[in-house]
Amino acid sequence: MITGSFPIEALSAYETPFYYYDMSVLRSTLREVTSQMQIFDNAVVHYAVKACAAPEILREIAKAGLGADCVSGGEIEAAIAAGIPASRIVFAGVAKTDKEIRYALQQGIFCFNVESQAEVEVIDQLAAEAGVVASVCLRINPEVDAHTHAKITTGMAENKFGIRMQDLEEAVRDCTRRQHIRFLGLHCHIGSQITDIQVFTVLAERLNTLVARVEALGVPVEHINVGGGLGILYEHPNHFPIPDFQSYFATFARSLQRRVGQTVHFELGRSIVAQCGNLMTRCLYVKQGTQKRFAIVDAGMTDLIRPALYGAFHRVENLSCPDAPEQVYDIVGPICESSDVFVEGYSIAQVHRGDLLVMRSAGAYGEVMASRYNLRRLPGHITSDDILTA
Ligand SMILES: *Cc1c(COP(=O)(O)O)cnc(C)c1O
Repeated sequence: MITGSFPIEALSAYETPFYYYDMSVLRSTLREVTSQMQIFDNAVVHYAVKACAAPEILREIAKAGLGADCVSGGEIEAAIAAGIPASRIVFAGVAKTDKEIRYALQQGIFCFNVESQAEVEVIDQLAAEAGVVASVCLRINPEVDAHTHAKITTGMAENKFGIRMQDLEEAVRDCTRRQHIRFLGLHCHIGSQITDIQVFTVLAERLNTLVARVEALGVPVEHINVGGGLGILYEHPNHFPIPDFQSYFATFARSLQRRVGQTVHFELGRSIVAQCGNLMTRCLYVKQGTQKRFAIVDAGMTDLIRPALYGAFHRVENLSCPDAPEQVYDIVGPICESSDVFVEGYSIAQVHRGDLLVMRSAGAYGEVMASRYNLRRLPGHITSDDILTA
C-alpha cells in the first residue's frame, strides 16, 4: 500500500488548518483488524470512539462490523447515528451521570464497564426504574505497568480508573445479589500507545488469575474485555502505516486461558485511526532567532494538542517543496502559550511562507481534542472520498 501520497492540488483548495482523513489507509487498517481477529472464534472489537468521532470515520468502522467503546452519552449517540448497533456498544468511564446511564439503558447497549461499586448501585436503581436488567462487566485495575507515558497509564494502583483487585470478590458478589444487574465478566484497560507487546502477555496472565478468582465464587465469566492501548509508530507513517495486529491478537490468543463459549472483547482506538489522519497547515512566517529558526504555522495546539499535552511526536512534511534541501526548525503554532510547539530542532525540506505542511499520524486524539481557545475556528475535516467525488 502506498501512503504518504497527498492530492496536493485538491487539498490546496481548502482553508488551513484542517484534518485530512485518507480513507484507503483506514480501510486497509480495518481489513487487517478484521482478518487478524479471526484467530479467535468468538471476539468483538469495539472501536474506542474517543480517539476520533468524525462521522465518516465512524460509518466506515460500522460498515466493517466493529462495535463501539464509548465514554459518554454523546459518544453512544454518535456511534448509533453512524450505524453501530447498540448491541455492540460498551460504555466505560468513571463518572457516568444518571442521565447517561438512563439513555444507555433505553438504547439497550451491550454492557456497562463499571468502574466502582457505587456505580453498580446507581445502575441497579436506574435499571429498576426503567424495568430492565443492566449487563455489566467490572473494570478491574490489574496493576500492570504499560511502560508508556505517565499521563496515559491507567492500570496502576491508586489510579482513578477501575476497581481494586482486592475488592474483586466483594464487587462480584454485590453484582450477583442485585436484581437489575447481570454480571457478564471482567474488563481491564491499562493505558495507551503501548508498543511493548510483552505488556499484553502480562495483562492476559493477570486476567487468568482474576477469572479464576471469580469462578471460585461459583460465578461464570462469559466475557473478558482486555481494553485497548495498542500503539502505533509515529516515526514511520509511510513504512509502517498498519500496526502489528497479528502479533497483538496472537499474544492474547496464546496467553488468555479461554473457557468454552467465552467471548473476548478488545477496545482499540488509536491503532485503528491514527495513521489515516493528517493535520494540514500552512507556514505563515519563517523567523530567525539567535540560535533557532522558527517555522510559524497556522495550526496550533488548539488543533492538535498531543505535543503540548504529552510531549508527543508527529512527523511533519513539506508538501509544497518536498525536494528542497533540509533545514532545521522549531515548528510552532500561533497560540499565546509557550507550549504551543509541535517539534523542536526538526530537519525538514526548507520552508517558505505559504508552503503546505502536513502533520502525520494525527487521526487519533487529534481533531476530537480541538478547542476554540483564542476564539479560533475548529479545524474541521475532509476525507479522501470528498476529494474523489468533488
Ligand atoms: C481510551 C480507551 C481505549 C482506547 O485506547 P487506545 O489507546 O486508543 O487504543 C479503550 N478502552 C478504554 C476504557 C479507554 O478509556
